[in-house]
Amino acid sequence: MKVLVLNAGSSSLKYRLIDVTDIENMKLMAKGICDRVGSEASQHVCSIDENELRISIPMENHDEAMQVVLDTLSSGPLKVLDSLDEIDAVGHRVVQGGKYFSHSVIIDDDVIKKIAELSELAPLHNKAALSGIHACQKHMPGVPMVAAFDTAFFQTLLPKAYMYPLPYDLCKKYNIRKYGAHGISHRYIAERAAEFLGKPLQDLKMITCHLGNGCSVTAIDHGQAVDTSMGMTPLDGLMMGTRCGSIDPAIVTFLEEHEHLSPEEMDDLMNKKSGILGVTGISNDLRSIGDAADQGDARSQLAYEMYAYSVKRYIGQYIAVLGGVDVIVLAAGVGENSKRMRRLIFEGLETIGIIIDEKRNNATQGEREISSDDSNVRVLIIPTDEEFMIARDTYELVEEREEQKAHAHEEEVSSVHNK
Ligand code: AMP
Repeated sequence: MKVLVLNAGSSSLKYRLIDVTDIENMKLMAKGICDRVGSEASQHVCSIDENELRISIPMENHDEAMQVVLDTLSSGPLKVLDSLDEIDAVGHRVVQGGKYFSHSVIIDDDVIKKIAELSELAPLHNKAALSGIHACQKHMPGVPMVAAFDTAFFQTLLPKAYMYPLPYDLCKKYNIRKYGAHGISHRYIAERAAEFLGKPLQDLKMITCHLGNGCSVTAIDHGQAVDTSMGMTPLDGLMMGTRCGSIDPAIVTFLEEHEHLSPEEMDDLMNKKSGILGVTGISNDLRSIGDAADQGDARSQLAYEMYAYSVKRYIGQYIAVLGGVDVIVLAAGVGENSKRMRRLIFEGLETIGIIIDEKRNNATQGEREISSDDSNVRVLIIPTDEEFMIARDTYELVEEREEQKAHAHEEEVSSVHNK
């Protein structure tokens, strides 16, 4: 089954075409991104194996971006399909699934209506996903589509974890609660970690850390998410590349008042001008900050320490929430690549049985363990792969539906025979 995985952002459309033989056998056929969609500088980058195509091309909206993607896959120098009919299914990443979706679903009119209704909670992202869904309906009518939600994994949280201590009626009126984010990534790394250890997920207390430009930590008790650091929106929790994460809420009104900021300006400040970028004033990229810290930049050193401290604090919280932990998993750009950050995060945790092996921490590739043999807690690095997870869900749901259809058809035929 050839599955096209789409991840539509506010001004981008990322995609992967994956050939799925079964869930153990997936082959990447092509991947790419349409960037700065809606601006004059829009461009498309597509790569197949070692070959890359990079072109500046006008794309006013996601519909036009979709056309560019499909044209590239089915014609021109990087063509991988003789016809678009070869695409069997499409998997869409949708950021906000609200209270409606606790797992991935086949997209129908009702699902589309609910994704639209939830746009209020993730305006840029859900609207972008809808554009992608509508573009597929137009360019590939009849091809089954699946929605994989970033929030779905956290629908197992109990009210004590997802409710906010604000007036109850207001929370109910506006659906204010913790929804979490990065759920596709947390689910993927948790499952892979269990497989790496050769133990059932249901036997483990796990803390998964997605540490990239966006950051979140999740507590997983015997396979079920029980708490997560992102909240009603992906602004909450850890310090991130440009997002502040949790701060004293009183700072919001204080700054609005003293700096004469509108709610939109304050939102922009917290989402785009804070985090590593805000503290350093240099960059949101941890690599640049590491270099600047080495050259003696005090604010870069501070940002490094704050980032690590923020992760350490959540790990501590979630050990208490879980009543202990068997395995801690790190993923995404920083978690997978920065040995320096990993060292800082786990520094001083030897007394509670978390011991990092320096040599293992310095290794660079693939799924691996970085804890020492005498550590009570296993610490793993699992490169995340959200597109793989979406392709797998898409494959499973579409296969299941085809089987149900075939079964229903067989029953119909046999009932005609028996008449
Ligand atoms: P992501 O959002 O998962 O793409 O992660 C982006 C973050 O990972 C940025 O802050 C990068 O600086 C960081 N990152 C990527 N590679 C490395 C590396 N080799 N060392 C340190 N940080 C890295």
